[in-house]
Amino acid sequence: MSSLPTRIGLFGGTFDPVHIGHLRAALEVAEALALDELRLIPSARPPHREAPSVSAEDRLAMVRLAVADVATLVVDDRELRRTRHSYTIETLESLRAELGDEVQLLLMLGWDAFCGLPSWHRWRELLELCHILVLQRPDADSEPCQELRDFLAARSQPDPQALKGPGGQITFIWQNPLAVSATQIRGLLATGKSIRFLVPDAVLDYIRTHGLYPASSEPR
Ligand code: ATP
Repeated sequence: MSSLPTRIGLFGGTFDPVHIGHLRAALEVAEALALDELRLIPSARPPHREAPSVSAEDRLAMVRLAVADVATLVVDDRELRRTRHSYTIETLESLRAELGDEVQLLLMLGWDAFCGLPSWHRWRELLELCHILVLQRPDADSEPCQELRDFLAARSQPDPQALKGPGGQITFIWQNPLAVSATQIRGLLATGKSIRFLVPDAVLDYIRTHGLYPASSEPR
């Protein structure tokens, strides 16, 4: 048995729908950091943003299908089981209550999301519950504010392999993202074009079978 603490990556998103950009990013991080598991956590959205045709249940079902045969990638539906929008800090508290204090939790954030951190609910407390793994991309153009720079300077761990303990540090991993987004996929479907090879075949089948994102709908 390994003496290393269990390492769990957390990857949130609306996944509307999940696509190969999400899946490759998740798999590459899981492999690079030898994660025991990486949880994809679909987020609930304010009701006014939910498209009539694509429910939270459908988004969840597509993520489940996408990772069904990948042992390291697992789906965590806790945010969808809540009756209201979850703040990330609450999701982390719920995970800690379930997994205990020893497990190493790595919250994956894109660089843009990281730069917006100071607007998050109880953002300074996040590191009490997890490490933050920032996905750096070559085309990123956001700038962190001074408050975040200071926070980063105090908590930075330059080597993602050297993260210690259950949480408390911020580290970076370079990733060349695939040029695909859910917005692009919804746009293609809205205009009756194929999204083949942009999503796993099982997701494509689910979209077809359930008539999601109909061609007459406006891309959101
Ligand atoms: P939308 O186009 O609807 O905004 P999206 O494709 O960006 O959706 P989200 O569900 O909003 O997907 O994103 C979930 C997470 O996946 C975010 O952290 C986002 O930065 C990341 N992500 C999205 N697309 C890619 C990609 N092509 N490569 C790597 N990461 C991605």
